Amino acid sequence: MLLVLAWLAGAAFAAPVVADPDAGIALRGEWRPTRDAAAVQGFDPARLKAFGRPPGGVTVLLYPRDGAWPEGLWVLSVESAAFQRIALDAPGLPLRRSTMLDAGDGRPAFGRIAFDVPRLPPDGAPLRVHVDASDTVPSPMYFVLRDAAAQSRVEAGWLAFATACLVTMLATAVIALFFGLRLRDPAFGWYAAYVTTYALIQATQSGYIVRPLGWDAMAATLPAWGRAVTTLSILSAVLFLDRFAGLGQRLPRLRRVLHGYCALMLVLVTLGYVPGLQAAMRALINPVLILGAPLVLGTAIAAVLRGSRYAAIFLLGWLPLLGVTVLGSLQLYGIAPDWTWSDDAALAVGAFEAIVLSLGLAERAASVRRQRDQARVLAGVDPLTGLLNRRAWREALEACLREPDAAGLSVLYLDLDHFKRVNDRLGHAGGDRVLQLFADVLRHALRADDVIGRYGGEEFVVGLVGGDAQAVAERIRRGLHARSREADMPLTVSIGVTAWRTGEGIDELLRRADAALYAAKHGGRDRVVAG
Ligand code: GH3
Ligand code: MG
Ligand code: MG
Repeated sequence: MLLVLAWLAGAAFAAPVVADPDAGIALRGEWRPTRDAAAVQGFDPARLKAFGRPPGGVTVLLYPRDGAWPEGLWVLSVESAAFQRIALDAPGLPLRRSTMLDAGDGRPAFGRIAFDVPRLPPDGAPLRVHVDASDTVPSPMYFVLRDAAAQSRVEAGWLAFATACLVTMLATAVIALFFGLRLRDPAFGWYAAYVTTYALIQATQSGYIVRPLGWDAMAATLPAWGRAVTTLSILSAVLFLDRFAGLGQRLPRLRRVLHGYCALMLVLVTLGYVPGLQAAMRALINPVLILGAPLVLGTAIAAVLRGSRYAAIFLLGWLPLLGVTVLGSLQLYGIAPDWTWSDDAALAVGAFEAIVLSLGLAERAASVRRQRDQARVLAGVDPLTGLLNRRAWREALEACLREPDAAGLSVLYLDLDHFKRVNDRLGHAGGDRVLQLFADVLRHALRADDVIGRYGGEEFVVGLVGGDAQAVAERIRRGLHARSREADMPLTVSIGVTAWRTGEGIDELLRRADAALYAAKHGGRDRVVAG
């Protein structure tokens, strides 16, 4: 984490001072904030600049900073323009229009809007660029004039970077879905929905869905699904935090507020699809969307203060993303114009968050498992075989001895033969599977009210009331033979059988059963001996 921060900080501060061969030629910009404003304003085209959203758009003039345009074939690259419409009006060439999702008359590009400029205007006359944000959100952009080779290099680098980020996000989502289904834990599902929708939003804003993906139909229908996906992304982030940080136990009241918020958003988005209500709902939903960030932040911090480790992991993963989002909003107002990497950072922090949160989920899966094992031990269940453990079995048998029908009670003491060899042949995990298989044999051969336990290692004990205990023991012995095939090696068991004598305690009873087992081992194993 520290390394990533150090790298980001280094990149942020080094960017303006390190000469970048792909940074293009120096430009000077002018624009008119309002149609009738006499004063033309200058700006630096290499820094981020938002032009607002006046109806009809604005015209930006780009000049060579040193007064004369160079010779040759150039590419004008408009960076970070998101959904704004850009048109280039170069003297002697037809007007060309382009957007991030539809290259139009522009040069098809990866992650930016670009135009080929086969010849630059004579006498240092300006390139005229129309920027129209009237039907979308304005976002700060910057302009670079590079030669075609440099442009290809920049785009190839971006393509590799964006692909790595998006693949990271989607891969963690797929893994989370798999675990969510196996563990039946909705936190994983909400995580997958959150990361997938965030990746989709980023892929759309950066034009990735069109180039390289070629999902033009999806790009064309963006107004129909864009808001729904954004809403789903925020909803799933909120519901993920809810499950992941355990808000139900820690902050039940705040949790109800969050759920109310989710319900409100769902209603607004749904109503937004009703003809006639669109404009009103759109005006309402944006402030509600913005409210989401402080709400989630406050809740996560409160959960951390209540001792939720997972809320801390959530914050660790999410804060860089929140930071980049806030930075993007501030840049609309002209703050930090040199940090031109903020759009790319939105992809990087998405991948970073995906890695942090999926590690958190992995830790949670491991901890759920540990808790389940602990609970089983507390409940007297042996976690490997699901049979009673030693303590629980003894308690259950003592209860049986106090029953009025205890007179007919017998005990079997069972020990798997040469289990060391089983472990040697199949490995410890294979040995564990054989223990589970034997537990299965016991459950099949016995009745529901027989008391079955794992006494330790490869030793098992059974208490049964009534019936022919020796016959039952034979059935178990043969049952194990029959299933040897599953282990790919002969499996046998030696069994000592003994009947309870009135007044006898559990230790005495077991001692005699153990003696019978000892006799069975000495008699050659794989047999039942009554004692
Ligand atoms: P015998 O026929 O005389 O009973 O021989 P044995 O090898 O079965 O007897 P011994 O008691 O010497 O060895 C038992 C082995 O069982 C040793 C131990 O490593 C293994 N064992 C004990 N508990 C477990 C377990 O939970 N899982 C696995 N895989 N092995 C276990
Ligand atoms: Mg043993
Ligand atoms: Mg043994």
